[in-house]
Amino acid sequence: MLAAQTPPADPLRAVAERYVKLVLAVGQHDADYVDAYYGPPEWRKSAEAAKLSLEAIDREAASLEADVAASPATSPVPQDASLWALRRQYLARQTAALRSRVAMLRGQRLTFDEESRALYDAVSPARPEAAFAAVLEKLEAQLPGDGPLIERYDRFKQAFVIPAARVDRVFREAVRACRERTLAHVELPPTERFTIEYVTGKSWSGYNWYQGDYKSLIQVNTDLPIYIDRALDLACHEGYPGHHVYNVLLEKNLVRDRGWIEFTVYPLFSPQSLIAEGTANFGIDVAFPPADRLALERDVLFPLAGLDVKRVKEYYDVLALVDQLSYAGNEAARQYIDGQIDRAGAAAWLVKYAMYTAPRAEQRVKFIDQYRSYVINYNLGKDLVRAYIDKKGGREATMARRWKEFAELLSSPRLPSGLK
Ligand SMILES: [Zn+2]
Repeated sequence: MLAAQTPPADPLRAVAERYVKLVLAVGQHDADYVDAYYGPPEWRKSAEAAKLSLEAIDREAASLEADVAASPATSPVPQDASLWALRRQYLARQTAALRSRVAMLRGQRLTFDEESRALYDAVSPARPEAAFAAVLEKLEAQLPGDGPLIERYDRFKQAFVIPAARVDRVFREAVRACRERTLAHVELPPTERFTIEYVTGKSWSGYNWYQGDYKSLIQVNTDLPIYIDRALDLACHEGYPGHHVYNVLLEKNLVRDRGWIEFTVYPLFSPQSLIAEGTANFGIDVAFPPADRLALERDVLFPLAGLDVKRVKEYYDVLALVDQLSYAGNEAARQYIDGQIDRAGAAAWLVKYAMYTAPRAEQRVKFIDQYRSYVINYNLGKDLVRAYIDKKGGREATMARRWKEFAELLSSPRLPSGLK
């Protein structure tokens, strides 16, 4: 299927194949590593059969790095000149990240910041506790009453839980709205689609599993109550214009149109994840700027969920403040990974500074155990993507211009350090 569309002379083809096979080889040692793969199925079978040792993978990756560095700096297709440069940088940096993950699997210990730089090409800035305390003070004023702030916040949020029987209906409507917005600005292959499943027992709240051929499986975790804001957040983040659209555009523009096989594999612990999570989160704001979002919540989603439409603005005002605490989550993860606090300490930090209720803090610490410094990809990723789109399009960019820059970012292999 892919081979027939490969351009005749791609000087990076052999290198790209070796990269894919190395990612699949690491996947034999790390079950979370290969997030998506839709290249030749026999390559996966070979990786399973060979089960290369981590030492052998590292040796081959070192030689791959040298070959990427020695590869032609100019594209055989002149109109792809800038994309070609991004492709070479991407292959080099993704391979370097692969070697770091292999080193970790072999027992190397990195600090939180060393790890995020090695794997995600970025470091989350340190935020002082005072910055969070200032936001908490504003929340105190917003949520007056007796008892600890987190309990008042929890009680406040009870009025915004989607009743279980309505979750699917609300979520499907949110997806429909996100898809409609996205299709007005981004051309997608007519066969793209995804399926939704509801699951339990996971450390995440939603997940997009890209399956190739423009199809995704989106899983929504129903372990904990689902608040109304999660409907549009998840629909945009996992679907349109988030992960599903990102993967579809990479498959269309890079794999099918250009035959760049390296994009048929997505290693989770790599710089690509900062771009994926950052665009998925910023995509919510691209599709629904605040005023548009409030209107959709008031006119469509709140009524479908059976919630009080008069409280839409009040709810989102509180959430906007809580969002300013998101970097407190990075601090909790940093201190926990660096051994300065234990599990209970990390959970307590999340409750105190990031407004996580105890069960959510528990779920989040499980997420940190599994994904470690990956946590920075969501908020730092979003901030880096926002700054990049603002710079490219101008802060006062029209909606159309913003979408154009955003879609271009989704269609190209740009690295986090290249967002500057
Ligand atoms: Zn995501």
